[in-house]
Amino acid sequence: MILYTLRCSHDHHFEEWFSNSAEYDSKKEAGELKCPECGDVQVAKAIMAPKVAKAAAAPAPACMPGGGGCGGCAFAGQH
Ligand SMILES: [Zn+2]
Repeated sequence: MILYTLRCSHDHHFEEWFSNSAEYDSKKEAGELKCPECGDVQVAKAIMAPKVAKAAAAPAPACMPGGGGCGGCAFAGQH
């Protein structure tokens, strides 16, 4: 299953599940994709924010647990 974020021509965003990208294409051609807010069938896939961005923003690792102080890491003097 693929979750697509769709956008209508009035700039409403909504999400729809598809079993694959071909199902998206056939539903779009059949006019079965429409905006829940305004009923517009002129919908397109919206650009989704990359989900990896959040995962990459992990907290900085603590240095040397139990090592009795830190001298060399980016947080030297702060912990
Ligand atoms: Zn709409």
